[in-house]
Amino acid sequence: MAKHCVCLTLDFDTFSVWSAMGQNSPTPISRGEFGVVAAARLLKLFDVHALPTTWFVPGITLDTYSAVCADIHAAGHEIGHHGYDHISPAGMSRGDEIDQLRRGIEAITRVSGMEPRGYRSPAWDLSENSIEILLGEGFVYDSSMMGHDYLPYRARTGDRVVSGQLPKFGEPSALWELPISWSADDFPHFEYFRGSGLARADDVLANWLGDYDYMTKYLESGVMTYTLHPFVIGRGHRMIMLDRLLHELKDRGAEFLTAEAAVARWAAL
Ligand SMILES: [Zn+2]
Repeated sequence: MAKHCVCLTLDFDTFSVWSAMGQNSPTPISRGEFGVVAAARLLKLFDVHALPTTWFVPGITLDTYSAVCADIHAAGHEIGHHGYDHISPAGMSRGDEIDQLRRGIEAITRVSGMEPRGYRSPAWDLSENSIEILLGEGFVYDSSMMGHDYLPYRARTGDRVVSGQLPKFGEPSALWELPISWSADDFPHFEYFRGSGLARADDVLANWLGDYDYMTKYLESGVMTYTLHPFVIGRGHRMIMLDRLLHELKDRGAEFLTAEAAVARWAAL
């Protein structure tokens, strides 16, 4: 069994990411809608490569584009939780956070018949209650934090961090963390946002292969997690880059797992 694996994860935000920022006029909505076009392209590419992937889907995407979400599930990909309205829980009351979580679980269950085991927070931030709430709702793993680049770890609860004071770290919980990073995310490289983005695809390809190569050269085991947004990666030259990335990783002997399978393997080590 390979000790290194790759998780391809997709945050299927569609319009929700713009709507959560109050951008509800036709152009930002269409910007997100392109994700539905791209999702079909991506499913075809993953079918050709015979790869399992994990899609973190906001409840509002599931309830708006149920058919394509059902296609994702039918193709054997994992569907994880990504909030309901794509609003970060960091500033939410405990009650609102639980409400968003439960509405998202119901939306996933309506489409897939299965409750999610994984959570990735919208905008990649958590509240001080999130870990405990996720455990209470039956989640096995979170994928929103950045405490390592390759090794899953147990998420802590009870941290007390105040600016200007020594932090007091809490205890590891039963919830696994599958860490992510902005550098292995397509959005900041490619999406034109707040004056940046639109990077050259070959440069990002070199970065992403470098991250995989470092893991296999210097670590005995690890998980390389890439994050893709369909409306970002789905543009022509980026789809060509993604196809090349998958070929290059396969040539290196990479094993592809869903996030749930990677975490389960890690938990069993
Ligand atoms: Zn998102």
